[in-house]
Amino acid sequence: MTAFDQELQCRLEALRQQGLFRELRPLDSPQGPQIRIGGTQLLNFSSNDYLGFANEPALRRAAGAAVERYGAGAGASRLICGSLPPHQELDSTIAGFKGTEAALSFATGYAAALGAIGALLGRNDVIVLDRLVHASIVDAARLCGARLRIFAHNDQRQLESILKWADKRKRTNSGGRAAVLVVTESVFGMDGDCAPLRELVALKEKYGAWLMVDEAHATGLYGPSRRGLAEELGVANRIEVQMGTLGKAFGAAGGYICGSRRLIELLVNKARSFIFSTAPVPAAAAAATEGIRFVASNLGKERCAALWQRVAELTTALGPDNRCWKSAIVPLVVGAESKALEVAAALRARGLFVPAIRYPTVRRGTARLRITLSAAHTAEHVAQLLAALKALQVNFILPPAHA
Ligand SMILES: *Cc1c(COP(=O)(O)O)cnc(C)c1O
Repeated sequence: MTAFDQELQCRLEALRQQGLFRELRPLDSPQGPQIRIGGTQLLNFSSNDYLGFANEPALRRAAGAAVERYGAGAGASRLICGSLPPHQELDSTIAGFKGTEAALSFATGYAAALGAIGALLGRNDVIVLDRLVHASIVDAARLCGARLRIFAHNDQRQLESILKWADKRKRTNSGGRAAVLVVTESVFGMDGDCAPLRELVALKEKYGAWLMVDEAHATGLYGPSRRGLAEELGVANRIEVQMGTLGKAFGAAGGYICGSRRLIELLVNKARSFIFSTAPVPAAAAAATEGIRFVASNLGKERCAALWQRVAELTTALGPDNRCWKSAIVPLVVGAESKALEVAAALRARGLFVPAIRYPTVRRGTARLRITLSAAHTAEHVAQLLAALKALQVNFILPPAHA
Protein backbone atom coordinates (compact mmCIF):
# COMPACT_ATOMS: atom_id res chain seq x y z
CA MET A 1 0.00 0.00 0.00
CA THR A 2 1.30 3.50 -0.77
CA ALA A 3 1.78 5.95 2.08
CA PHE A 4 -1.11 7.94 0.65
CA ASP A 5 -3.46 4.96 0.74
CA GLN A 6 -2.26 4.01 4.22
CA GLU A 7 -3.24 7.42 5.51
CA LEU A 8 -6.66 7.17 3.85
CA GLN A 9 -7.08 3.67 5.26
CA CYS A 10 -6.63 5.14 8.76
CA ARG A 11 -9.22 7.78 8.15
CA LEU A 12 -11.73 5.26 6.78
CA GLU A 13 -11.15 2.98 9.77
CA ALA A 14 -11.92 5.88 12.11
CA LEU A 15 -15.23 6.43 10.31
CA ARG A 16 -16.10 2.73 10.58
CA GLN A 17 -15.41 2.74 14.31
CA GLN A 18 -17.73 5.68 14.86
CA GLY A 19 -20.56 4.06 12.89
CA LEU A 20 -20.16 6.80 10.28
CA PHE A 21 -18.84 4.84 7.31
CA ARG A 22 -20.96 5.23 4.19
CA GLU A 23 -21.10 3.32 0.97
CA LEU A 24 -23.12 3.39 -2.19
CA ARG A 25 -26.09 1.10 -2.49
CA PRO A 26 -26.67 0.67 -6.21
CA LEU A 27 -30.29 0.26 -7.25
CA ASP A 28 -31.19 -2.03 -10.08
CA SER A 29 -34.62 -0.52 -10.66
CA PRO A 30 -36.04 2.91 -11.44
CA GLN A 31 -37.14 5.20 -8.61
CA GLY A 32 -40.52 4.34 -7.08
CA PRO A 33 -42.30 3.01 -3.99
CA GLN A 34 -40.82 -0.41 -4.77
CA ILE A 35 -37.11 -0.54 -5.54
CA ARG A 36 -34.60 -3.34 -6.04
CA ILE A 37 -31.24 -3.24 -4.28
CA GLY A 38 -28.81 -6.09 -4.93
CA GLY A 39 -31.60 -8.21 -6.38
CA THR A 40 -33.88 -7.73 -3.35
CA GLN A 41 -37.24 -6.01 -3.71
CA LEU A 42 -37.76 -3.36 -1.02
CA LEU A 43 -40.56 -1.00 -0.09
CA ASN A 44 -38.92 2.40 -0.40
CA PHE A 45 -39.37 5.07 2.29
CA SER A 46 -36.20 7.00 1.49
CA SER A 47 -36.80 8.98 -1.67
CA ASN A 48 -37.50 12.70 -2.04
CA ASP A 49 -39.68 11.94 -5.06
CA TYR A 50 -42.63 13.24 -3.02
CA LEU A 51 -45.24 13.21 -5.77
CA GLY A 52 -44.03 10.10 -7.58
CA PHE A 53 -42.98 11.99 -10.73
CA ALA A 54 -39.38 10.72 -11.10
CA ASN A 55 -40.43 7.82 -13.31
CA GLU A 56 -43.59 9.41 -14.75
CA PRO A 57 -44.05 8.60 -18.48
CA ALA A 58 -44.68 12.24 -19.42
CA LEU A 59 -41.36 13.34 -17.89
CA ARG A 60 -39.53 10.50 -19.59
CA ARG A 61 -41.08 11.44 -22.94
CA ALA A 62 -40.16 15.11 -22.44
CA ALA A 63 -36.55 14.14 -21.69
CA GLY A 64 -36.42 11.84 -24.73
CA ALA A 65 -37.91 14.46 -27.06
CA ALA A 66 -35.35 17.05 -25.88
CA VAL A 67 -32.51 14.63 -26.63
CA GLU A 68 -33.86 14.00 -30.12
CA ARG A 69 -34.20 17.71 -30.81
CA TYR A 70 -31.27 19.27 -29.00
CA GLY A 71 -28.83 16.44 -28.41
CA ALA A 72 -27.29 14.77 -25.39
CA GLY A 73 -25.04 17.58 -24.21
CA ALA A 74 -25.36 21.36 -23.95
CA GLY A 75 -21.77 21.89 -25.14
CA ALA A 76 -20.90 24.96 -23.09
CA SER A 77 -21.99 27.14 -20.20
CA ARG A 78 -25.24 29.07 -20.58
CA LEU A 79 -23.34 32.34 -21.10
CA ILE A 80 -21.13 30.98 -23.89
CA CYS A 81 -23.31 29.02 -26.31
CA GLY A 82 -25.16 26.54 -24.09
CA SER A 83 -28.40 28.45 -23.44
CA LEU A 84 -30.72 26.16 -25.40
CA PRO A 85 -34.50 26.38 -25.79
CA PRO A 86 -35.14 23.80 -23.01
CA HIS A 87 -33.18 26.01 -20.57
CA GLN A 88 -35.00 29.18 -21.58
CA GLU A 89 -38.33 27.40 -21.31
CA LEU A 90 -37.42 26.01 -17.90
CA ASP A 91 -36.50 29.43 -16.50
CA SER A 92 -39.75 31.00 -17.67
CA THR A 93 -41.79 28.00 -16.47
CA ILE A 94 -40.26 28.31 -12.99
CA ALA A 95 -41.03 32.04 -12.85
CA GLY A 96 -44.59 31.42 -14.07
CA PHE A 97 -45.18 28.65 -11.56
CA LYS A 98 -43.73 30.61 -8.64
CA GLY A 99 -45.36 33.90 -9.67
CA THR A 100 -42.10 35.85 -9.62
CA GLU A 101 -40.72 38.34 -12.16
CA ALA A 102 -37.92 35.99 -13.14
CA ALA A 103 -36.09 32.77 -12.35
CA LEU A 104 -32.76 31.12 -13.13
CA SER A 105 -32.13 27.40 -13.21
CA PHE A 106 -28.85 25.83 -12.10
CA ALA A 107 -27.40 22.33 -12.58
CA THR A 108 -28.32 21.43 -8.99
CA GLY A 109 -29.85 22.98 -5.90
CA TYR A 110 -26.39 22.85 -4.34
CA ALA A 111 -25.03 24.99 -7.17
CA ALA A 112 -27.97 27.40 -6.82
CA ALA A 113 -27.15 28.02 -3.15
CA LEU A 114 -23.44 28.45 -3.83
CA GLY A 115 -24.04 30.77 -6.77
CA ALA A 116 -26.70 32.97 -5.24
CA ILE A 117 -25.09 33.54 -1.85
CA GLY A 118 -21.69 34.14 -3.42
CA ALA A 119 -23.21 36.64 -5.85
CA LEU A 120 -25.03 38.60 -3.16
CA LEU A 121 -22.49 38.75 -0.34
CA GLY A 122 -18.84 39.56 0.21
CA ARG A 123 -16.43 40.29 3.04
CA ASN A 124 -18.19 43.35 4.40
CA ASP A 125 -21.55 41.64 4.70
CA VAL A 126 -23.24 39.41 7.26
CA ILE A 127 -24.95 36.07 6.69
CA VAL A 128 -27.25 34.65 9.36
CA LEU A 129 -28.26 30.97 9.26
CA ASP A 130 -30.66 28.73 11.13
CA ARG A 131 -28.53 26.05 12.76
CA LEU A 132 -30.22 23.28 10.77
CA VAL A 133 -29.96 24.63 7.22
CA HIS A 134 -28.75 22.31 4.47
CA ALA A 135 -25.04 21.77 3.82
CA SER A 136 -25.26 23.62 0.49
CA ILE A 137 -26.14 26.82 2.37
CA VAL A 138 -23.49 26.29 5.04
CA ASP A 139 -20.85 25.77 2.35
CA ALA A 140 -22.05 28.83 0.44
CA ALA A 141 -21.92 30.93 3.61
CA ARG A 142 -18.33 29.89 4.29
CA LEU A 143 -17.26 30.43 0.71
CA CYS A 144 -18.75 33.91 0.28
CA GLY A 145 -16.48 35.35 2.97
CA ALA A 146 -19.22 37.27 4.83
CA ARG A 147 -19.38 37.29 8.64
CA LEU A 148 -21.27 34.16 9.63
CA ARG A 149 -23.75 34.09 12.52
CA ILE A 150 -25.94 31.14 13.47
CA PHE A 151 -29.18 31.14 15.47
CA ALA A 152 -30.65 28.12 17.27
CA HIS A 153 -33.19 26.27 15.19
CA ASN A 154 -36.29 28.44 14.59
CA ASP A 155 -35.28 30.69 17.52
CA GLN A 156 -36.73 34.11 16.69
CA ARG A 157 -35.36 35.78 19.80
CA GLN A 158 -31.81 34.80 19.05
CA LEU A 159 -32.26 35.83 15.44
CA GLU A 160 -33.50 39.23 16.56
CA SER A 161 -30.49 39.83 18.78
CA ILE A 162 -28.16 38.94 15.89
CA LEU A 163 -30.09 41.29 13.58
CA LYS A 164 -29.78 44.09 16.15
CA TRP A 165 -26.02 43.55 16.31
CA ALA A 166 -25.74 43.42 12.49
CA ASP A 167 -27.81 46.58 12.09
CA LYS A 168 -25.61 48.48 14.52
CA ARG A 169 -22.45 47.17 12.85
CA LYS A 170 -23.79 48.25 9.47
CA ARG A 171 -24.41 51.82 10.65
CA THR A 172 -21.04 52.25 12.31
CA ASN A 173 -18.78 50.37 9.86
CA SER A 174 -19.98 50.82 6.34
CA GLY A 175 -22.17 53.88 6.05
CA GLY A 176 -25.16 51.55 5.95
CA ARG A 177 -24.13 49.71 2.82
CA ALA A 178 -23.26 46.29 4.23
CA ALA A 179 -25.86 43.64 3.39
CA VAL A 180 -27.39 41.31 5.96
CA LEU A 181 -28.89 38.10 4.59
CA VAL A 182 -30.91 35.65 6.69
CA VAL A 183 -31.20 32.14 5.24
CA THR A 184 -33.56 29.38 6.30
CA GLU A 185 -35.30 26.35 4.87
CA SER A 186 -39.09 26.49 4.86
CA VAL A 187 -39.46 22.80 5.67
CA PHE A 188 -36.35 21.29 7.26
CA GLY A 189 -35.06 18.26 5.42
CA MET A 190 -33.92 16.14 8.34
CA ASP A 191 -36.51 17.15 10.96
CA GLY A 192 -39.55 17.72 8.78
CA ASP A 193 -40.62 20.76 10.79
CA CYS A 194 -41.47 24.20 9.38
CA ALA A 195 -39.86 27.62 9.81
CA PRO A 196 -42.05 30.41 11.22
CA LEU A 197 -41.84 32.31 7.92
CA ARG A 198 -44.31 35.08 8.82
CA GLU A 199 -42.36 35.96 11.91
CA LEU A 200 -39.01 35.75 10.10
CA VAL A 201 -40.30 38.06 7.37
CA ALA A 202 -41.48 40.59 9.96
CA LEU A 203 -38.10 40.46 11.71
CA LYS A 204 -35.96 40.93 8.61
CA GLU A 205 -38.16 43.85 7.57
CA LYS A 206 -37.83 45.45 10.99
CA TYR A 207 -34.03 45.40 10.70
CA GLY A 208 -33.66 46.02 6.98
CA ALA A 209 -32.16 42.59 6.29
CA TRP A 210 -32.80 40.34 3.28
CA LEU A 211 -34.33 36.88 3.48
CA MET A 212 -33.50 33.78 1.42
CA VAL A 213 -35.76 30.74 1.80
CA ASP A 214 -34.85 27.27 0.54
CA GLU A 215 -38.10 25.48 -0.33
CA ALA A 216 -36.45 22.21 -1.43
CA HIS A 217 -38.83 20.10 0.68
CA ALA A 218 -41.89 22.32 0.28
CA THR A 219 -42.38 23.21 -3.38
CA GLY A 220 -45.04 20.99 -4.88
CA LEU A 221 -46.53 20.24 -1.47
CA TYR A 222 -47.80 23.45 0.16
CA GLY A 223 -50.03 26.37 -0.82
CA PRO A 224 -53.09 26.62 -3.07
CA SER A 225 -50.88 26.49 -6.21
CA ARG A 226 -48.32 24.19 -4.56
CA ARG A 227 -45.60 26.84 -4.81
CA GLY A 228 -44.39 26.15 -1.30
CA LEU A 229 -44.79 27.12 2.34
CA ALA A 230 -44.22 30.83 1.61
CA GLU A 231 -47.31 30.75 -0.59
CA GLU A 232 -49.31 28.91 2.06
CA LEU A 233 -48.35 31.52 4.66
CA GLY A 234 -48.94 34.44 2.27
CA VAL A 235 -45.41 35.87 2.46
CA ALA A 236 -43.82 34.81 -0.85
CA ASN A 237 -43.69 38.33 -2.31
CA ARG A 238 -41.86 39.64 0.76
CA ILE A 239 -38.96 37.17 0.40
CA GLU A 240 -36.04 38.56 -1.60
CA VAL A 241 -34.51 35.24 -2.69
CA GLN A 242 -36.54 32.05 -3.17
CA MET A 243 -34.60 28.88 -3.79
CA GLY A 244 -35.54 25.30 -4.59
CA THR A 245 -34.54 22.09 -6.29
CA LEU A 246 -35.96 20.42 -9.38
CA GLY A 247 -34.85 17.01 -8.11
CA LYS A 248 -37.46 16.35 -5.41
CA ALA A 249 -41.22 16.90 -5.95
CA PHE A 250 -40.60 17.94 -9.57
CA GLY A 251 -39.06 14.54 -10.29
CA ALA A 252 -36.13 15.71 -12.45
CA ALA A 253 -32.80 17.40 -11.63
CA GLY A 254 -31.50 20.92 -11.16
CA GLY A 255 -31.97 23.85 -8.84
CA TYR A 256 -33.37 27.34 -9.14
CA ILE A 257 -33.44 30.84 -7.70
CA CYS A 258 -36.42 33.10 -8.32
CA GLY A 259 -37.35 36.64 -7.44
CA SER A 260 -37.06 40.03 -9.08
CA ARG A 261 -35.71 40.54 -12.60
CA ARG A 262 -32.75 42.45 -11.15
CA LEU A 263 -31.88 39.57 -8.85
CA ILE A 264 -31.77 37.20 -11.82
CA GLU A 265 -29.70 39.64 -13.91
CA LEU A 266 -27.24 39.93 -11.06
CA LEU A 267 -26.97 36.13 -10.80
CA VAL A 268 -26.33 35.77 -14.53
CA ASN A 269 -23.45 38.21 -14.06
CA LYS A 270 -22.10 37.09 -10.71
CA ALA A 271 -23.10 33.53 -9.76
CA ARG A 272 -19.90 31.58 -10.29
CA SER A 273 -21.51 28.13 -10.15
CA PHE A 274 -23.71 29.27 -13.03
CA ILE A 275 -21.07 31.06 -15.07
CA PHE A 276 -18.23 28.56 -14.81
CA SER A 277 -20.18 25.35 -15.40
CA THR A 278 -21.55 23.60 -18.47
CA ALA A 279 -25.29 24.03 -18.89
CA PRO A 280 -27.37 21.03 -17.76
CA VAL A 281 -28.19 18.45 -20.42
CA PRO A 282 -31.31 19.38 -22.44
CA ALA A 283 -33.04 16.20 -21.18
CA ALA A 284 -32.81 17.35 -17.55
CA ALA A 285 -34.17 20.82 -18.32
CA ALA A 286 -37.06 19.44 -20.38
CA ALA A 287 -37.97 16.85 -17.73
CA ALA A 288 -37.95 19.56 -15.06
CA THR A 289 -40.23 21.80 -17.13
CA GLU A 290 -42.65 18.91 -17.54
CA GLY A 291 -42.41 18.14 -13.82
CA ILE A 292 -43.39 21.70 -12.94
CA ARG A 293 -46.34 21.57 -15.36
CA PHE A 294 -47.45 18.34 -13.74
CA VAL A 295 -47.23 19.78 -10.24
CA ALA A 296 -49.30 22.77 -11.39
CA SER A 297 -51.94 20.56 -13.05
CA ASN A 298 -54.95 18.79 -11.57
CA LEU A 299 -52.92 15.61 -11.46
CA GLY A 300 -50.40 17.42 -9.26
CA LYS A 301 -53.23 18.51 -6.99
CA GLU A 302 -54.51 14.94 -6.72
CA ARG A 303 -51.03 13.56 -6.03
CA CYS A 304 -50.51 16.18 -3.37
CA ALA A 305 -53.79 15.25 -1.68
CA ALA A 306 -52.82 11.55 -1.76
CA LEU A 307 -49.48 12.37 -0.14
CA TRP A 308 -51.11 14.26 2.74
CA GLN A 309 -53.48 11.34 3.20
CA ARG A 310 -50.49 8.98 3.64
CA VAL A 311 -48.83 11.45 6.03
CA ALA A 312 -51.96 11.52 8.19
CA GLU A 313 -52.20 7.70 8.20
CA LEU A 314 -48.61 7.29 9.33
CA THR A 315 -48.31 10.07 11.86
CA THR A 316 -51.62 9.60 13.66
CA ALA A 317 -50.79 5.90 14.08
CA LEU A 318 -47.36 6.82 15.53
CA GLY A 319 -48.94 8.89 18.29
CA PRO A 320 -52.08 10.93 19.02
CA ASP A 321 -50.05 14.16 19.37
CA ASN A 322 -48.95 14.07 15.77
CA ARG A 323 -52.29 14.90 14.21
CA CYS A 324 -51.02 18.15 12.76
CA TRP A 325 -47.69 16.82 11.48
CA LYS A 326 -47.14 19.01 8.46
CA SER A 327 -44.53 17.37 6.27
CA ALA A 328 -43.79 14.30 4.18
CA ILE A 329 -40.61 13.79 6.22
CA VAL A 330 -41.13 11.79 9.40
CA PRO A 331 -37.88 11.39 11.37
CA LEU A 332 -37.80 8.76 14.09
CA VAL A 333 -34.93 9.94 16.25
CA VAL A 334 -33.26 6.98 18.01
CA GLY A 335 -30.07 8.70 19.23
CA ALA A 336 -26.96 6.55 18.80
CA GLU A 337 -25.50 6.10 15.32
CA SER A 338 -25.16 2.36 15.88
CA LYS A 339 -28.79 2.08 16.99
CA ALA A 340 -30.00 3.79 13.83
CA LEU A 341 -27.93 1.41 11.70
CA GLU A 342 -29.26 -1.57 13.61
CA VAL A 343 -32.92 -0.59 13.19
CA ALA A 344 -32.41 0.23 9.51
CA ALA A 345 -30.90 -3.24 8.98
CA ALA A 346 -33.77 -4.91 10.83
CA LEU A 347 -36.31 -3.05 8.69
CA ARG A 348 -34.41 -4.01 5.56
CA ALA A 349 -34.55 -7.66 6.60
CA ARG A 350 -38.34 -7.21 6.61
CA GLY A 351 -38.33 -5.74 3.11
CA LEU A 352 -38.49 -2.06 4.08
CA PHE A 353 -35.92 0.53 3.09
CA VAL A 354 -35.71 3.39 5.60
CA PRO A 355 -32.33 5.13 5.71
CA ALA A 356 -30.34 5.72 8.90
CA ILE A 357 -29.34 9.40 8.89
CA ARG A 358 -26.22 10.14 10.91
CA TYR A 359 -23.57 12.75 11.58
CA PRO A 360 -22.54 14.91 9.75
CA THR A 361 -25.99 15.14 8.13
CA VAL A 362 -27.48 15.55 11.63
CA ARG A 363 -25.85 16.27 15.00
CA ARG A 364 -24.00 13.43 16.75
CA GLY A 365 -26.27 11.46 19.04
CA THR A 366 -29.42 12.43 17.13
CA ALA A 367 -29.21 9.67 14.52
CA ARG A 368 -32.56 8.83 13.06
CA LEU A 369 -34.59 6.76 10.68
CA ARG A 370 -35.81 9.24 8.16
CA ILE A 371 -39.07 8.12 6.65
CA THR A 372 -40.14 10.01 3.55
CA LEU A 373 -43.58 9.43 2.14
CA SER A 374 -44.58 9.74 -1.47
CA ALA A 375 -47.89 10.10 -3.26
CA ALA A 376 -46.94 6.83 -4.95
CA HIS A 377 -47.29 4.94 -1.65
CA THR A 378 -50.57 3.22 -0.94
CA ALA A 379 -52.37 2.95 2.40
CA GLU A 380 -51.23 -0.70 2.40
CA HIS A 381 -47.57 0.37 2.14
CA VAL A 382 -47.97 2.62 5.17
CA ALA A 383 -49.68 -0.18 7.09
CA GLN A 384 -46.73 -2.49 6.32
CA LEU A 385 -44.28 0.08 7.67
CA LEU A 386 -46.32 0.58 10.84
CA ALA A 387 -46.54 -3.17 11.40
CA ALA A 388 -42.76 -3.55 11.07
CA LEU A 389 -42.04 -0.66 13.47
CA LYS A 390 -44.41 -2.20 15.96
CA ALA A 391 -42.92 -5.68 15.63
CA LEU A 392 -39.40 -4.31 16.16
CA GLN A 393 -40.53 -2.19 19.13
CA VAL A 394 -38.43 0.72 17.98
CA ASN A 395 -37.94 3.37 20.67
CA PHE A 396 -37.98 6.78 19.06
CA ILE A 397 -39.03 10.38 19.45
CA LEU A 398 -40.53 12.58 16.78
CA PRO A 399 -39.26 16.20 16.92
CA PRO A 400 -41.99 18.72 17.72
CA ALA A 401 -43.68 20.13 14.61
CA HIS A 402 -43.75 23.91 14.14
CA ALA A 403 -46.12 25.77 11.88
C1 LIG B 1 -31.72 18.50 -1.66
C2 LIG B 1 -31.51 19.84 -1.08
C3 LIG B 1 -30.68 20.79 -1.70
C4 LIG B 1 -29.82 20.45 -2.87
O1 LIG B 1 -30.57 20.27 -4.01
P1 LIG B 1 -29.96 19.34 -5.17
O2 LIG B 1 -30.78 19.71 -6.35
O3 LIG B 1 -30.17 17.95 -4.72
O4 LIG B 1 -28.53 19.70 -5.30
C5 LIG B 1 -30.60 22.04 -1.15
N1 LIG B 1 -31.29 22.38 -0.04
C6 LIG B 1 -32.06 21.48 0.60
C7 LIG B 1 -32.78 21.89 1.83
C8 LIG B 1 -32.18 20.19 0.10
O5 LIG B 1 -32.93 19.32 0.75
